[in-house]
Amino acid sequence: MTTTGQDTPTMTVTVRDRAAEAPWGYGLTSPKTRTVTISAHCPRCGSQRGEPTGRRECDDGAYYWVQTWTNPCGHVDMYAAVIVEAVERTQQLGRGEWVRRDPTNGQPWEGFTHEQMTCLLEAVREGQRPDVASVESRTAATVVLRLSETNGGGTATFRWEPSE
Ligand SMILES: [Zn+2]
Repeated sequence: MTTTGQDTPTMTVTVRDRAAEAPWGYGLTSPKTRTVTISAHCPRCGSQRGEPTGRRECDDGAYYWVQTWTNPCGHVDMYAAVIVEAVERTQQLGRGEWVRRDPTNGQPWEGFTHEQMTCLLEAVREGQRPDVASVESRTAATVVLRLSETNGGGTATFRWEPSE
């Protein structure tokens, strides 16, 4: 029996995505928010998460609307962890694609399913990919590959683009 995660109860929340904002000290604060789907249960203990309520927040004169919730179990959900959870959920469900785009015009160069990317990363780690020298960095939603000299060198950046 396989568990796809499709049947588990979920909740949709709007959270602040600080990683998508300009680094501190660069220009005006412009809060970015994101609406994501996460499990209705606490990832640490499995008990039901709290009911989300919306509120308007102000940071440096910029207003934005987000949701917060208090888990009855006492575990606190940080927004950054919530975004990672939502990204990994779409990857497990296969809803989205790892895309490498032309940095100048944003046109997609190549794309992989999450399964293909997982295979590729494993092959690179095992030294089975002559075109890729190493995995430069890896986060939930970004993979940077260092290309081998015979493949032109430099790096290739892939970002997870959820289709949800
Ligand atoms: Zn908990």
